[in-house]
Amino acid sequence: MHFFIAKKCELWYNDIYMQCGEKQDFCNQDLCGQSTRKHCTPQGYQASSAIYDLVVVGAGPAGLMAAGCAAARGLGVAVLEGNAKCGKKLYITGKGRCNLTNDTNAQGVLDNVVSNPKFLYGALHKFAPKDTIDFFESRGLPLVVERGGRVFPFSQKASDVTSVLQQNAQKGGVKFFLETKVTGVQCCEQGASSKFVVKSSGRQFFANSVLIATGGKSYAMTGSDGSGWALAKNLGHNLVAPMPALVAIEFVQDTKPLQGLSLRNINCKILHKAKVVKEIFGEMVFTDKGASGPIILSASSLINRWSLADTRLQLDLKPGLSFEKLDERVLRDFALYQNKDFINALDDLLPTKLIPYIVQKVGIAPHKKVNTIARQERQNFVNMLKKLEFEPSKLGGIDFGIVTAGGVDTKQIDPKTMQSKIVPGLYFAGECIDVDALTGGYNVQIALSTGHLVGNSVGENI
Ligand SMILES: Cc1cc2nc3c(=O)[nH]c(=O)nc-3n(C[C@H](O)[C@H](O)[C@H](O)COP(=O)(O)OP(=O)(O)OC[C@H]3O[C@@H](n4cnc5c(N)ncnc54)[C@H](O)[C@@H]3O)c2cc1C
Repeated sequence: MHFFIAKKCELWYNDIYMQCGEKQDFCNQDLCGQSTRKHCTPQGYQASSAIYDLVVVGAGPAGLMAAGCAAARGLGVAVLEGNAKCGKKLYITGKGRCNLTNDTNAQGVLDNVVSNPKFLYGALHKFAPKDTIDFFESRGLPLVVERGGRVFPFSQKASDVTSVLQQNAQKGGVKFFLETKVTGVQCCEQGASSKFVVKSSGRQFFANSVLIATGGKSYAMTGSDGSGWALAKNLGHNLVAPMPALVAIEFVQDTKPLQGLSLRNINCKILHKAKVVKEIFGEMVFTDKGASGPIILSASSLINRWSLADTRLQLDLKPGLSFEKLDERVLRDFALYQNKDFINALDDLLPTKLIPYIVQKVGIAPHKKVNTIARQERQNFVNMLKKLEFEPSKLGGIDFGIVTAGGVDTKQIDPKTMQSKIVPGLYFAGECIDVDALTGGYNVQIALSTGHLVGNSVGENI
């Protein structure tokens, strides 16, 4: 039996597989718990004789980008993906259209990163949104910029983004192993032929570097089920507790009567312990138990580490008008509808569904004639339009988050290379790391930038 280092794809076609029980020279790790120094094939496993420069676990944007970059540098790369196809989560991004980046610069992305922006500084400056745009357009996928700088494929098909990434990797000779769920990554002892053994059901792979790019834990049916974190943990890494992010929020207040109501061009102040921490402008939609939509999703990413009892969301329904200007406007409406009941005088000001809710909350009798409303009552009403408060009671479950906050602790990863500080040769990229960003294409950009950095750093010392 002879073995080779897989440097070029032609060689991979020479893969030799051996049944469990045979001896081989790859490494001296005792995986089956009973073997000798030279026996590293666990019982019931087949072994490929190739030793890859890089084995990538997970074929999302991070893993595919890393694989393509490493292969372009002449490295022998294998991608192991649990699903029968690559980029299953990418297919559902941006409602199937994939908002793959934002038309901004590296700092513009970092400004929208919630967890550990400093850690991402190098990765985003080395591969910025402009590089993402060039990468896809130069490979035949035209892009368009939409509202808020969101960048989508002109075709409006997320599957085209995956195809470009996959074809780029394939062109470089990357070997794909689909339906290959990785269950273990083990380091070999010094002097062994390969540094790592990567185990999947019924099969094992040998590698000098391994990239864990297994994503987060949300929308687990896409394959990103958190199993990658167990691999990292078994190799000695800390995990920052995973939390839902970019997820709907439930409120203490009964929002059933408002369900389905969309509010546009409103301002949301996020208050923690009565202090304004952030303001977000945009749109939201009420659900039966709370709210969702862009500003609520963003708010969830900011409040998911706080005690919700100390948190309030304060909506300004008329952010274009100061309190005084809005009061003047309300006065004009009240003059116009002076003989109407209060509840019937608000149609010019508010969406129909919101009127009974606001009337009940402000405490003015709904059938009070407008011309009998006192100045203080009117000002309370104006105040409510500027400061409509909701108390979050619960965030949506982790499976329903657009992203997962938390993950592999950034303190244990070198930001210049994405290499583990604990296990040399082990790398991390994308959402499996404790990084997350707001909506706008920033999360895919993070996956691409960190993947690009791995692909261009890995193997420098091979
Ligand atoms: C509904 C939805 C919409 C979104 N829309 C956008 C958007 O428009 N713009 C944006 O920027 N972000 C969006 N995101 C977030 C974005 O999709 C992710 O941040 C991004 O895909 C992360 O890339 P990744 O490569 O790190 O991980 P993933 O894309 O999650 O890929 C990880 C891969 O690893 C595989 N895997 C996991 N464990 C194993 C294992 N043990 N063995 C083998 N393979 C394994 C998985 O099957 C998966 O294919 C959206 C997310 C969701 C859920």
